[in-house]
Amino acid sequence: MVLEMDLHKFITNYRYVLIIDPEIVKGSAEDFYATYGSAIRQLAVIAKAPSGYVYYNSKVAWVDKNFPDFFSSFTQIGVDIGVDIYAVINVFSDELFGVDPKFKTLDRQKNFVPGYVCPSETSFWEYIAEIAKEVAEMKVKGIILTGLTFVNSNFCMCERCRNKFREWTSLDVPVEIIDPNSSFWGRWVDWRVKQITDTVRKISEAVWEKRKEVFIYPTVYLDSEVGGIANTRVEFGQDPIELSSVTGTMMLHLNPWTPLMPDIDSAEFQKILENSEFIRELKGKGYLTGLYYWGSASDYDLEALNAFANANGIDKIFIYPMYSDIHAKWREYHLRMI
Ligand SMILES: [Zn+2]
Repeated sequence: MVLEMDLHKFITNYRYVLIIDPEIVKGSAEDFYATYGSAIRQLAVIAKAPSGYVYYNSKVAWVDKNFPDFFSSFTQIGVDIGVDIYAVINVFSDELFGVDPKFKTLDRQKNFVPGYVCPSETSFWEYIAEIAKEVAEMKVKGIILTGLTFVNSNFCMCERCRNKFREWTSLDVPVEIIDPNSSFWGRWVDWRVKQITDTVRKISEAVWEKRKEVFIYPTVYLDSEVGGIANTRVEFGQDPIELSSVTGTMMLHLNPWTPLMPDIDSAEFQKILENSEFIRELKGKGYLTGLYYWGSASDYDLEALNAFANANGIDKIFIYPMYSDIHAKWREYHLRMI
């Protein structure tokens, strides 16, 4: 558990945007703003948790029984006193729908990952779009879409994904040959990118119909263990260029699966910087870029995050100052350790 005392350094430095959920802040929104209110300019609040439950009174989603108004109370008071609120929505990371036969995500052996949903079911895109609209109406400044991913390159091999791919290519491709050695692999990777990008398009259009001024930030993983951004595209179906052409923004999640940040003088850090040229490209197009991070957020970590942000012209660093049990579990799925 993070002591609330530790939150000061994220609140008083305006480059950082603290991300909170009931694990990070134990008390009420009233108590939180009474303590920090005069110092806060911006705050990110989890609206839909990886559990699948939401922290506000939703008409469409299941509401968390223990924290039915965590998001809405922090948002409402924050907006009233002039704080910029960013809502965090877990998209395909969803333990409720992840076990539903209609939404399960499968590998070739038909194993499923209980905490994730198949990214090709359009009714699920619409469901998330409805949640995003409800959140947008609470006057948030931006919406951060996280868990916006295929589990890894072994997913998703469910019948719907295979059928949709077959329709898209007009080729009868048996699932057995969809692997990196097959001539179809490149098209399969492109099709997976399309599912993630189309999800973001659907959500963005729904939100902008209500409030055009809301920034939508799709989160993309850049992890030392996974390698460069080309591997992110293959493993997770996330393409920062395509996603940002929809939203005009990009949120880069740095080292989600390698929570220790490298020393800024190390060769490894240099390698990460070399891998981030695409961010400067996006910045050159005038797109808004942010950095997303979860982990211990020690002074050592913050030094690396700041150096990375400086090198790439990134303005804001969103920080969830903890590495939780669920992050450790996701690490195993996303790095194919189980
Ligand atoms: Zn699928």
